[in-house]
Amino acid sequence: MEKIVILTGAGISAESGISTFRDEGGLWAQHAIEDVATPEAFRRDPDLVHRFYNARRAQAAEVAPNAAHLALARLQERHRGEVVLVTQNVDALHEAAGSRAVLHMHGALAGALCARCEARWPAPMVMATRDACPICGAAATRPDIVWFGEMPYGMEAIWQHLEEADVFAAIGTSGNVYPAAAFAQHAGRAGAQTIELNLEASQNTRDFAETRLGRASVIVPEWVDAVLGN
Ligand code: NAD
Repeated sequence: MEKIVILTGAGISAESGISTFRDEGGLWAQHAIEDVATPEAFRRDPDLVHRFYNARRAQAAEVAPNAAHLALARLQERHRGEVVLVTQNVDALHEAAGSRAVLHMHGALAGALCARCEARWPAPMVMATRDACPICGAAATRPDIVWFGEMPYGMEAIWQHLEEADVFAAIGTSGNVYPAAAFAQHAGRAGAQTIELNLEASQNTRDFAETRLGRASVIVPEWVDAVLGN
């Protein structure tokens, strides 16, 4: 049975109203990445980092999944082989669309993490620097987000899935952020058919056997229909 591994990035959530990295005027554009999305930034100015992620959490709570998220949930439900969904996104739109077992390799806005004892719990809508960890009591709580320079979650399992994949699809990701940007090459070398679905060709477009360009809400449902043989 055909095993499909999918990687999604900010582009799949763009049409739901969540800005991508590069969108002008988006949340990211107002801050330099190194001021909000690194461990150093959190040490330097935890209030700023919490404000930034609180704003993103508030924005994420107001949006709904689009046709691309829904199509992938349909694929997971109807495909007879395994469908592994890995996302770089920290929103919960795949889950809202009905997807199961989503691997959030860069963490999730919905999670809180204690930097002292590594306990995890559901994040409140508004997090603050002085919040105490419910387990050890340390005022060391942070969003459960993988920042630049930190190790993404679940990598051992993800490399394994890529090696077993018959099909690898990357959707709405620019191919700028490693290790996710290396997945296509890894899966392709292990024998997978590789396809990129994106608004514009990604940085690593040459690693894919096939590229389809367009809006995720249009090209992802089309691709899913073709895979399911509709
Ligand atoms: P990116 O912003 O670097 O690239 C987005 C890609 O999506 C681009 O290649 C762009 O052409 C494409 N795109 C834009 N609109 C699209 C649409 N309507 N349909 C299809 N494709 C579209 O995003 P990335 O590659 O995911 O960057 C990785 C980092 O950004 C990750 O660390 C991720 O955690 C973070 N991020 C996440 C979110 C989110 O959770 N929704 C939002 C912004 C950034």
